[in-house]
Amino acid sequence: MVKPFMPELVYVEPRALEYPLGKQLINRLEGKGIDIRETTSHNHIRNLPGDNHFQRYRMAKSTLVVGLRKTLKFDTSKPSAEYAIPLATGCMGHCHYCYLQTTMGSKPYIRTYVNVEEVLDQAEKYMEERAPNITRFEASCTSDIVGIDHLTHTLKHAIEYFGQSDLGQLRFVTKFAHVDHLLDANHNGKTRFRFSVNADYVIKYFEPGTSKLDDRIEAAKKVADAEYPLGFIVAPIYLHEGWKEGYRVMFEKLEASLPKHARKDLTFEFIQHRFTKPAKRTIEQNYPMTKLELDEAKRKPRWGKYGIWKYVYTDEEQDDMKQTLSQYLNEYFPEAKFEYFT
Ligand code: SF4
Repeated sequence: MVKPFMPELVYVEPRALEYPLGKQLINRLEGKGIDIRETTSHNHIRNLPGDNHFQRYRMAKSTLVVGLRKTLKFDTSKPSAEYAIPLATGCMGHCHYCYLQTTMGSKPYIRTYVNVEEVLDQAEKYMEERAPNITRFEASCTSDIVGIDHLTHTLKHAIEYFGQSDLGQLRFVTKFAHVDHLLDANHNGKTRFRFSVNADYVIKYFEPGTSKLDDRIEAAKKVADAEYPLGFIVAPIYLHEGWKEGYRVMFEKLEASLPKHARKDLTFEFIQHRFTKPAKRTIEQNYPMTKLELDEAKRKPRWGKYGIWKYVYTDEEQDDMKQTLSQYLNEYFPEAKFEYFT
């Protein structure tokens, strides 16, 4: 089993120590032999140890920066929620296809924000604007928040906050199985706890540093027992030799493991693999040996909302994926709610 994340290097903004969470976190990390340094800003971490890009990138993925979230304007987060709630940025996982490699550019280190109350106050304002409609907040747009939450408990705090809210709901997705501290959170059914799942081939070749499928499923069972609304995101759906069988086995494993009560309020989201040209360049730099297929000529270009071409599968391939996975979903989880394919 992948061990819970522990940073090798920590940077802390002095102002973060004025917040109880900042103090607690540093107290928890001190005495563990971790190098803890000061930084004036979480946006200006330079000179990470390492002789070349490859070593510095890996060190960045083991570096935690404890700071304050300054931008309190939330991004939108369609189709899964109205807003992205910023609790952390960055991830210790090494998924070759990860979009964070491009969105975070030269700052692949992990940032956690200690001014959670200010972030939650801002969420409250967005909820008031949309009242009486429900506002959904996605907590995993810029990180795998569960992966660091055993250290910070920021997510747990947010879960309990939305647990008390009439108009707000929280959701997030993870590839990590370290969920134990979240099981007793007072969620009141307002948080949808989702796991990212995939065929064994994809997990084995493209998701190093994350929990294995069986561990994610074990964690999903615990989450269901804690009465959280549960969901699965099959992403990225990736065509490879034997993919139909690979995804069938994944559905079979889920079906064999999930207790009956976990299926009452269960959602599935399907997201196909896509890439952009800048992403391809970054992936080839960070993971030069990757087997990930990134040939634009084999894909269909789709104009993206950030003004850049994305390369998705051809229409025929997309139809085949949609049809195959929908069939498995109907067969194994007929009561589940299918949210979208994108
Ligand atoms: Fe990226 Fe998610 Fe993998 Fe982390 S777990 S590297 S956020 S895809």
